[in-house]
Amino acid sequence: MGAYLAKAGVSSVVFERELFPRPHVGESLVPSSTRVFKDLDFLPQMEEAKFPHKFGAVWTADDKQKVPYQLGWEGLAADCHADIRFDERDQPGVDKNYTYHVDRGKFDLMLLQHANKLGAAVYEGVRVSAVDFGPKEPVVRFTMGRNGKEMGVSARMVVDASGRNTFLGNQLKLKVQDTVFDQYAIHTWFNNYDRKVFSREDDHRDYIFIHFLPISNTWIWQIPITNTVTSLGVVTQKKNFAKSKSDREKFFWESVASRPRLGETLRKADRIRPFKDEGDYSYAMKQICGDRFVMVGDAGRFVDPIFSTGVSIALNSSRFAHKDILAALETNDFSRQSFATFESTLRVGTKNWYDFITVYYRLNVLFTYFINDPKYRLDVLKLLQGDVYDDAAPPVLQKMRTMVAEVEQNQTHPWHKMLGDLTSNAFRPEF
Ligand SMILES: Cc1cc2nc3c(=O)[nH]c(=O)nc-3n(C[C@H](O)[C@H](O)[C@H](O)COP(=O)(O)OP(=O)(O)OC[C@H]3O[C@@H](n4cnc5c(N)ncnc54)[C@H](O)[C@@H]3O)c2cc1C
Repeated sequence: MGAYLAKAGVSSVVFERELFPRPHVGESLVPSSTRVFKDLDFLPQMEEAKFPHKFGAVWTADDKQKVPYQLGWEGLAADCHADIRFDERDQPGVDKNYTYHVDRGKFDLMLLQHANKLGAAVYEGVRVSAVDFGPKEPVVRFTMGRNGKEMGVSARMVVDASGRNTFLGNQLKLKVQDTVFDQYAIHTWFNNYDRKVFSREDDHRDYIFIHFLPISNTWIWQIPITNTVTSLGVVTQKKNFAKSKSDREKFFWESVASRPRLGETLRKADRIRPFKDEGDYSYAMKQICGDRFVMVGDAGRFVDPIFSTGVSIALNSSRFAHKDILAALETNDFSRQSFATFESTLRVGTKNWYDFITVYYRLNVLFTYFINDPKYRLDVLKLLQGDVYDDAAPPVLQKMRTMVAEVEQNQTHPWHKMLGDLTSNAFRPEF
């Protein structure tokens, strides 16, 4: 947002409580991020940084997870394996057939420096403690250092980009915890992990891999960070973790061992970072803008990382919101209504993600079935590319929902016993 506003000649101040670089989860991008990098003249830096290029994605499962597939629904691989390349579908405004996997320490620092270079004033180590909204301009209160004195500065408006800290959502009591998704993740980096252990093609080494584990609602990501370093993380329902009564590291290794080849391969690699866990991360906000404020990225909503969407949503929410902010500056009208286009666009996108993610968790096999069926493949790819903002009711999602309903109602359906334990009311998020 700082970079977008600076490019438009608007003066802005960025307060960041950490000193960058700092580690952060969320390392695999989707191609809709490229539009933002282009807008901000940031693509040359992305290339110079030599981040691994991400040409596509692969989903794998074990032989034990083989599913009945002679259902008259052609296209379903018996072992749930699926892979896709981004260049199978042309994406308007995106002229690269790949996106990136990033070390977030490096990437976030680069973006912050870029905003600064374009003209945004950036202050690191400054923690925002409150925003006073009154009849006039809001006052942002902040502290520097551990016991720093609180100070304040007024601004015409405030953008909350505080991530899962959800600063304004908490202050204004707008946050609603998601009762359907209660996921938990534990992740770390490994050196010399053989990324090709489940590859069926030579050029899949730098794809993202999602390995389904034979534990309900549980999967593991495999994300290239450098030529030799790979990020691996287990995502599960929090209740699975709590039930195991083991410490988090043991849980990670037990989960990985449920796919023996994966476990064995990982044991041969060297862990180079401490384990880190993330929890309680699914929520929405009753509103993502208001008089003199907007929320972008995770500050406004987060559902689940299964489709690597978070960074793209964060980047694109600033792409949409900055247009409304520029218009508000023109008219000097900073009321909630001025940000309505941003709010409705973002809600279309996040609702599509939500529906897609819900179908995935309700019936994993359906997802691979749709990818492998030429009738639906490109429609699913459009979502995976991050193009979710232009259609409030994508037909492919409707078709997926109908199929889930059929499987739910038909107890003799071979897929019935594969239904996950998310309920169908999850298809109707309130916000
Ligand atoms: C388990 C897991 C896996 C994920 N995997 C992926 C993935 O593969 N791909 C992907 O795209 N996304 C992924 N995500 C999501 C991704 O991490 C986020 O969506 C993304 O980082 C959001 O960016 P943001 O700028 O909104 O927030 P952040 O990147 O979190 O930035 C917010 C910043 O605000 C600062 N801040 C917070 N409070 C204050 C304050 N009071 N004052 C000053 N500064 C403050 C923080 O220090 C932080 O630097 C994953 C998320 C999880 C939980």
